[in-house]
Formats: sequence, structure tokens, C-alpha cells
Amino acid sequence: MGYFEMAKTAILTTLRSPSTRRYPSVPAKKTILSRGRVSIDPARCISCGMCMRKCPTDAICVVKDEKTWSIDRLKCVVCNCCVEQCPVHCLTMETGYTPSMTVHEGIEVVQITYVKPEKPPRKEPETGAASGSQPE
Ligand code: SF4
Ligand code: SF4
Repeated sequence: MGYFEMAKTAILTTLRSPSTRRYPSVPAKKTILSRGRVSIDPARCISCGMCMRKCPTDAICVVKDEKTWSIDRLKCVVCNCCVEQCPVHCLTMETGYTPSMTVHEGIEVVQITYVKPEKPPRKEPETGAASGSQPE
């Protein structure tokens, strides 16, 4: 009886289509909620370091003096926490998947190009006859 059940299961499994996709030869389905990889717009990053402090796996490193933002892709667990915390919304979660790595390809370093806008010159307070002088 057991042998018959096993043979039946083996035959049915062979005839059915596979339950899994043959990724990456068959591309994975993407939705707007898919999490692929974190990317940054270096022209908007203000080097505040919030993403580095909130990352649970220490995958991100921000060096304010050198104006660099770096990420260790093998440490990133794609939790989206950095994207949610960035105050200027310069981080995004790309929906596309990347091929899995078999060797560590090094830490990805991005040069921050944000330039702080100059403050407009302060207006000097008006003094003298113009303020409060009454015609005679
Ligand atoms: S997605 Fe999560 S794990 Fe990856 S860098 Fe951002 S905070 Fe860190
Ligand atoms: S990516 Fe966003 S959270 Fe991270 S340092 Fe830049 S501005 Fe701050």
C-alpha cells in the first residue's frame, strides 16, 4: 500500500508543472511592493546619517567629512527602514532583483554631490528719519 502511494505521488509530481520558478532564467514577478535593492540620489542626500543609525544590520555608512554614502549589499536585508527614515526622501527601494552574489564584490561607495544652498544676506534694520518721522 505504501509503495503504491509513493509511486502515485512520484508520477503525479513528474507530470505536474513545477511549483517554483526557475529564477533567474525565468524573471521573478514584480509589484510596487517588491523590494529589490536600495538606491540613493546623491544630489539630494544631506549626510544626516539617519539611515546609518536606523539600519539594523549596519549595512550603511555615511562619512560627512568625506561626503560619502556607502552600502554593503551582502549585509542589507532589504527591510526598507532606511528608505522610510530618510528625511529628504533621497533613498528609494528599487523593485528589480539583482543576481545573487557568490563572492563579496566590495562595499559600494557613492559620492554625495549635494550642495547646501547659500543663505540670503540678512537685511539690516532700517534706522533714522525714514521710520516714524512726521511731516510738519
Ligand atoms: S534596507 Fe534595511 S538592511 Fe538594507 S540598508 Fe536599508 S535599513 Fe539597512
Ligand atoms: S540618505 Fe537620507 S537619511 Fe541617509 S544620510 Fe542621506 S539624507 Fe540622511
